[in-house]
Amino acid sequence: MSTPVIEMHGLKKYFKSGNSLFRTKQWVHAVDDVDMVINKGEIVGLVGESGSGKTTLARLILNLTQPTESEILVDGVNPRKATRAQMRQLRKDIAVVFQDPGGNLNPRQTVGNSIMRPMIIHGVNKKEGYERALKALEMVKLDKSYMDNYPAQLSGGQQQRIAIARALVLDPKIMILDEPTSALDISVQAQVLNLLLDLQEEMGLTYMIITHDLNIVNYVCDRVFVMYLGKIVEYGSTEDVLHRPSHPYTKGLMAASPILDPTQRDKNPERLSGDPGSLVHLAPGCRFAPRCKYASDKCRADQPQMVEIEPGHCAACFLDVDAEK
Ligand code: SF4
Repeated sequence: MSTPVIEMHGLKKYFKSGNSLFRTKQWVHAVDDVDMVINKGEIVGLVGESGSGKTTLARLILNLTQPTESEILVDGVNPRKATRAQMRQLRKDIAVVFQDPGGNLNPRQTVGNSIMRPMIIHGVNKKEGYERALKALEMVKLDKSYMDNYPAQLSGGQQQRIAIARALVLDPKIMILDEPTSALDISVQAQVLNLLLDLQEEMGLTYMIITHDLNIVNYVCDRVFVMYLGKIVEYGSTEDVLHRPSHPYTKGLMAASPILDPTQRDKNPERLSGDPGSLVHLAPGCRFAPRCKYASDKCRADQPQMVEIEPGHCAACFLDVDAEK
């Protein structure tokens, strides 16, 4: 039976923005009414263009920002109501790996010190920290001699392995991977993805991979959520969503991806045009309507609700509802 490790229902995160000079106040709807359940051991992809709210959603899960409405349960615990002991455990249970490993490693610290730092913060003594750092290096398939290197002496792929080793040392249950390979060469990307797959299997980890690259989703993810202007518009198994996309936005992402024959990309009738627009001035109906070639008056007036198209595969589009009638 599936055990949820991350759960959210109707989650909202709005940021206040405005011009203090003109005393105007506006709300940025970064995450708007998001439902999501991620089960233990799953690899889930979160895709969408820049500005769709993916990173804000990850920051909410990491408890780096607080929801405006509703809450997130991580392994059954609501971080906002957690005791100090539960909070300490949550910080160990969720690890994060960012896009730019070079930028996230302190250039003045050796690899060994960078890997040991989270353990020192959590009260692990230096000797044990050192042993565990060596073990982490072994897990990411790097020689222990790298302990004394500085980040500038390493390649991008090696730096990302160090960032993964650092994320692993507290024995997490969940890893949030924010564009984990986008700063790497194609050949190194495959190595890092294979390493992540090996570690996931070995340690029974749960991954949430934020990416704009559908090839990565296709290669590693069990399920995928598609996000557009703060809302989830489609989700399901990777097979269902990528091979039988339903929402016009998902089809547009597919048309823009080298998953398809790149020579056909510009001719694909589903390809996206225009940009996502603003998270402040939102149209009343479907948020994708200004870019959607199927948009009707109904789409511009009402927001489509999520409907199940096939078991476990859902999309929020009136075309699916009308097709069922
Ligand atoms: Fe397009 Fe309408 Fe579907 Fe929105 S609800 S994606 S506008 S067809």
